Amino acid sequence: MISRTFSSWGSVVRARHAVYSLASRHDAFPRISPGSTVLPYGNGRSYGDSCLNPDGALLRTDALDHFIRFDSDTGVICCEAGVLLADILRLTVPRGWFLPVVPGTAHVTVGGAIANDVHGKNHHRVGSFGNHVRRFELLRSSAERWICSPDEHPEWFAATVGGLGLTGVITWAELQLRPVAGAWMQVETVRFANLDEFCRLCENADSVSEYTVAWIDCLSRGRRLGRGLLQQANHSTHSAPDVPAHDYRIGMPFVPPLSVVNRATLQLFNTLYYHRPRWRTRRHTHFQQFLFPLDRIAHWNRLYGPRGFYQYQCVVPGERAADATASLLQAIARSRQGSFLAVLKRFGAATSPGLLSFPQQGLTLALDFPNSGESLERLFGELDALVAQADGRLYPAKDGRMPGWLFRRGYPQWQEFARYIDPACSSSFWRRVTQEA
Ligand SMILES: Cc1cc2nc3c(=O)[nH]c(=O)nc-3n(C[C@H](O)[C@H](O)[C@H](O)COP(=O)(O)OP(=O)(O)OC[C@H]3O[C@@H](n4cnc5c(N)ncnc54)[C@H](O)[C@@H]3O)c2cc1C
Repeated sequence: MISRTFSSWGSVVRARHAVYSLASRHDAFPRISPGSTVLPYGNGRSYGDSCLNPDGALLRTDALDHFIRFDSDTGVICCEAGVLLADILRLTVPRGWFLPVVPGTAHVTVGGAIANDVHGKNHHRVGSFGNHVRRFELLRSSAERWICSPDEHPEWFAATVGGLGLTGVITWAELQLRPVAGAWMQVETVRFANLDEFCRLCENADSVSEYTVAWIDCLSRGRRLGRGLLQQANHSTHSAPDVPAHDYRIGMPFVPPLSVVNRATLQLFNTLYYHRPRWRTRRHTHFQQFLFPLDRIAHWNRLYGPRGFYQYQCVVPGERAADATASLLQAIARSRQGSFLAVLKRFGAATSPGLLSFPQQGLTLALDFPNSGESLERLFGELDALVAQADGRLYPAKDGRMPGWLFRRGYPQWQEFARYIDPACSSSFWRRVTQEA
């Protein structure tokens, strides 16, 4: 058996894992050593330890990269679970179909997108990825294969969507795409002076635009707390000539000895970026530029240096969401930590299909933080307390450190979910949040 070092996107944890692979969707579940465990692995785009299993093995799915069926009349596509969202879009956009939900990178697999029930900038309109999955096959270590859909084995469907790879391995999935005229989008950027203005703008933006998302200057304080840029977009209704997919144009060729993200670079970037656009700008933009801006820089995660970085993504629900978000932003600005990537978005009312799905109606805030050790841990402690007080929760796909109590409080259905875990599957994340205080 092969063993290799794996890391996730945040590069905080690097650990050797035994490696198994599925060469085809027809392969049997691997026979793992007695007493060991295995975790399906997609493309490692989760930030923390939810895609790692250091004391056990990983089950690679990258060879499951075949399309099975695509009906260009109905927009139903069936493919193996290791197919990347980028590959689906490359095939279907020229034929007038788009994925209904995409995260901020197209370099994730279909299996990974289901297992984290990922959300996009259009959550307020269409819900999360799992809302558009028609069915999939779940392969268990017992060798059973179940077709799961909202109607067939619905309880296994609910456990596996957002199920963090713990219920078995998804071998293929069938998705419903949505029609588009072409690859272009109409994007408008509006500057807002503080959090109150963001909330006012969102009311209107969410009703007229399919996609809305805001960048926040995480260092601003006082009357400027939460100032930023709101982007709202719709797919263009007329087709325009496509341009070649950009994939990677530039890249970070090495890991610098220290993080390039520090207080000085952050202050400079945030000030320049906030003041850059004119008050209101409208652009005709290729979908890749709007939906996956970071995909143009290969290995951008290396900017954070050898110690890596954490992302903190929470959602705070209901009436108190704006006040709680203000408190979170105050704590972050006071600490003078954070990074260029600070994103705020309103989740809509759609019910997510997974038992452990992250989205819930309210505000979601996501920030990257260079791994600076103790001072960051102190800040995270403060943020955790604010999130818990507001009945919010953190996103496992982005997490590498949340305390067990916060997970169990944010996901009270975790014990019900645990009944569906495949006895051969485990992850570093799951052991941490269910066994630690
Ligand atoms: C730049 C960037 C932007 C992002 N933006 C967003 C965003 O806007 N919204 C959002 O929701 N997420 C976002 N993410 C997170 C990312 O979408 C998720 O972590 C996604 O699940 C990663 O997919 P992956 O294929 O890399 O899977 P991995 O990270 O390898 O694995 C993720 C989980 O899926 C499980 N899994 C993988 N394949 C299978 C399978 N075949 N069967 C069963 N389980 C499987 C794994 O066990 C693991 O639990 C972003 C990530 C990056 C790097």
